[in-house]
Amino acid sequence: MASPRERIVVVGAGDCGTRTALGLRNRGFEGPLVLVGDEPSDPYERPALSKRVLTGETNEAKTIATADELAASAIDWQPGVAAVEVDPDNRRVALADGSAVDYDRLLLSTGSRARRPPIAGGEHAVSVRSIRDAALLRQQLEDSERMIIIGGGFIGLEVAACAREAGCEVTVVEFAHELMARVVPAPVARVMRDRHLAAGVDLRLGTGVTSWSQDAGTGMHRIRLDDGTELEAQLLVGGVGAIPNTELAASAGLLIDNGIAVNEQLRTSDPAIWAAGDCCSVPHPLYGGRRLRLEAWGNALAQSEVATENLLGGSAVYNAVPSFWSDQYELTMQVVGLHEAARRHVVRRRRDGHEVHIGLDDDGRVVSASGAAPGTTLARDILATERLIAGRASSAPADLGDPDIDLRRLV
Ligand SMILES: Cc1cc2nc3c(=O)[nH]c(=O)nc-3n(C[C@H](O)[C@H](O)[C@H](O)COP(=O)(O)OP(=O)(O)OC[C@H]3O[C@@H](n4cnc5c(N)ncnc54)[C@H](O)[C@@H]3O)c2cc1C
Repeated sequence: MASPRERIVVVGAGDCGTRTALGLRNRGFEGPLVLVGDEPSDPYERPALSKRVLTGETNEAKTIATADELAASAIDWQPGVAAVEVDPDNRRVALADGSAVDYDRLLLSTGSRARRPPIAGGEHAVSVRSIRDAALLRQQLEDSERMIIIGGGFIGLEVAACAREAGCEVTVVEFAHELMARVVPAPVARVMRDRHLAAGVDLRLGTGVTSWSQDAGTGMHRIRLDDGTELEAQLLVGGVGAIPNTELAASAGLLIDNGIAVNEQLRTSDPAIWAAGDCCSVPHPLYGGRRLRLEAWGNALAQSEVATENLLGGSAVYNAVPSFWSDQYELTMQVVGLHEAARRHVVRRRRDGHEVHIGLDDDGRVVSASGAAPGTTLARDILATERLIAGRASSAPADLGDPDIDLRRLV
């Protein structure tokens, strides 16, 4: 256990950092505890930003903890101020308001930020990362008839679904020939593609943008695609992924490798500093120690638990099965494991007509599973495969594909 005299500082008050601060108190840490966040609002969860907040179903993202709750847990919550530098020799974090906070143990949970679309005019594309971004886009949606989304990843497609529900014409321009090609097998991506086509989204796959301009009078964005097509819209949205916020770690001279490089206990190259969540890359024991950086809500929570334990002096290892979901229209796409690790897939054609695609590695071990269906239809199968992945199980492909065999029996 960290001594009560030791001060723990958490920088980044998103899902991972806030839950770690709360977790430290729940686990009995009584020493000084500081939570620094550069956003002015109470810490909140992001997933609803590109879903229910955009459709107007709710105005608020779900709050993780209010200022009062943080105060009640004796967490020194410092909102609206960025940490600008870490001095590891003096164990001090400099803040943007000119103040500084000393630490004995430091957690960096600085998350990631939207990548700017790599096209001319990409700096004019709006993105959805924060509650402010979502509120602004929702307002802009009300006054816009047409939207162009650059990138066919999860967030871009969730925005597309919300925009269609709001009656906005949407074109998605994606350089790859499939949507979400990195994270799900093509048949799963095609379920989502067909749903977007049915909703009237104009999908331009395998296409790049060659030029951009903006009408000075109307503010309309005009882009030209590499097949010569010209498109115009009031709204230009970027959906080309995220990049980790590593600048603070770099200021401390920490090792960076596609994110802040941590070991399986989430410790950085400095023994007094840990990193967790979207901002870090970690060697994953389930995938041969391959270094992974995950941008997923479940990962932020799983790493927060490991960080909490280890900030208190423990030696917990991060080995959770990666998992992700995306809601588009009435469909929920669920992904567990790592699609890239799969060498072949078994298709589990369920009696309800929906499919789960189970990925196997060269040794026949289950390494991934994914599918898309309304609501929680696939949840039971996906949960069972998650346990197969965690147990490094190799099951007979015929059993995995047989819809009459309950996957839980194979665990
Ligand atoms: C729009 C959207 C929709 C999503 N939907 C899903 C989904 O459906 N399913 C899913 O599994 N995942 C989803 N995710 C991903 C999930 O929300 C993230 O993986 C998760 O929020 C990561 O948590 P984190 O704490 O690591 O980072 P973040 O939540 O990004 O929090 C990091 C915080 O640190 C702050 N910060 C950064 N630098 C500094 C600094 N120098 N000083 C102080 N503060 C700093 C940031 O402003 C931010 O508040 C979504 C993400 C977004 C943006």
